Amino acid sequence: MPAKGAQVGTTSRKTVPGTAAEDVIVVGGGVTGTAIAWRAAAAGRGVLLIDPGGDDPRAADMATMVAAGMLAPVSESVFGEQHLLTLNLHAAERFESFNQELEAAAGLSTGLRAEGTLAVAYDHGDLTALDRLTTFRRSLGLDAERLDARECRRLEPFLAPSTRGGVLTRGDHSVDNRRYLTALRVAAARAGVRIVAGRVTRVADGEVRVALAGQPDGARLTARHVIVATGQATRSLDGLPGPVRRAVRPVKGQILRLRHPAGIPPVLRHSVRAVVQGRDLYLVPRQDGELVVGATQEEREDRDVTAGAVHELLRDAVTVVPAVSELILAEASAGLRPGTSDNGPILGLAGQDGLIIATGHFRNGILLSAVTADAVTALLGGHPPDAAWAPFTPARFS
Ligand SMILES: Cc1cc2nc3c(=O)[nH]c(=O)nc-3n(C[C@H](O)[C@H](O)[C@H](O)COP(=O)(O)OP(=O)(O)OC[C@H]3O[C@@H](n4cnc5c(N)ncnc54)[C@H](O)[C@@H]3O)c2cc1C
Repeated sequence: MPAKGAQVGTTSRKTVPGTAAEDVIVVGGGVTGTAIAWRAAAAGRGVLLIDPGGDDPRAADMATMVAAGMLAPVSESVFGEQHLLTLNLHAAERFESFNQELEAAAGLSTGLRAEGTLAVAYDHGDLTALDRLTTFRRSLGLDAERLDARECRRLEPFLAPSTRGGVLTRGDHSVDNRRYLTALRVAAARAGVRIVAGRVTRVADGEVRVALAGQPDGARLTARHVIVATGQATRSLDGLPGPVRRAVRPVKGQILRLRHPAGIPPVLRHSVRAVVQGRDLYLVPRQDGELVVGATQEEREDRDVTAGAVHELLRDAVTVVPAVSELILAEASAGLRPGTSDNGPILGLAGQDGLIIATGHFRNGILLSAVTADAVTALLGGHPPDAAWAPFTPARFS
């Protein structure tokens, strides 16, 4: 239900989009902000979403449009990140029902694929490393089925003959992140969310200062709740607590999108992961024939696509699945993951009434979107989020 007395107003006499109904302003229209905006509006709140790209996500710099869309809590789990694993498992469990509701609300498919993820190894060293990780994952009760080379190639006939063995994780799915964001945008609009093009320059308790397209800087919008979902750019948003801003770091990822030429059958059904000469690689097939190949992980903040990264990704992909060389290179792109100093997301009240931070989703923002929206919905209603979020409050950095 809408909060009592909630309103958006402005001290500027310029025309600004907030008029009377909103009680929530969401800053940032990537997967995090849009999922939050949709759920808040679906719960009956008036919501204004502000993003520099406005209605067009391609016009914004967002990690969401670059991502691979893996929903892979088990394949992403590593030694020493138990709290993150618990949160990611919680997210994977919730994703399907959230996605079903989303597809119904938007009338669109998000391209969810539930075939599972196959991690493969090429030499003795890779296989030993994969086995060590699998033993660790099984010790936590996670699903990971060891396959020999023949079983791997039975599942994926286009794998290289040199495949030594692998591990199948049936519960690690994928979604087409771009279709997913489109569905979120449509569902949000249908639920009454208004999206405006603008860049917020400062946030405070219940208030944002925003540079709106075509208007002078400094319009001031107020609402009962302000939610900051600005991804890696959170580090440069004035008004947020310094320790939170300093904890956010950009982690560049370069990634390729390939397409099958007419007449060539899909080269993969499962998401496939591999380590090739020490470099992590994944190949994620889409329902519409796209194959996503990623990704680099670089402590940089530019979005340049480099010849070296494209070369390495293609070379490694062809090593894993030689038939990739027959595919069309449709796109090479780069984005900035919203990393943090401890690799965990940041979600919770930011020390001021009405200001909520939802950022730092790093490598798992698509996976975490549903439970992030649930958690913020709970906070807006004055309730604590699910216990899996407890280790990830903004206060841990202060
Ligand atoms: C190569 C790559 C592969 C990835 N693969 C996966 C994957 O397989 N699975 C997975 O779960 N995750 C993956 N991720 C991570 C995932 O993309 C991110 O965690 C997620 O997209 C973060 O979403 P977000 O909405 O928080 O941030 P973003 O998508 O970055 O969106 C932030 C938005 O805020 C806007 N903004 C910034 N500053 C302001 C401001 N001042 N005012 C208004 N708006 C502002 C930006 O324009 C942007 O639109 C990948 C990322 C990369 C780069």
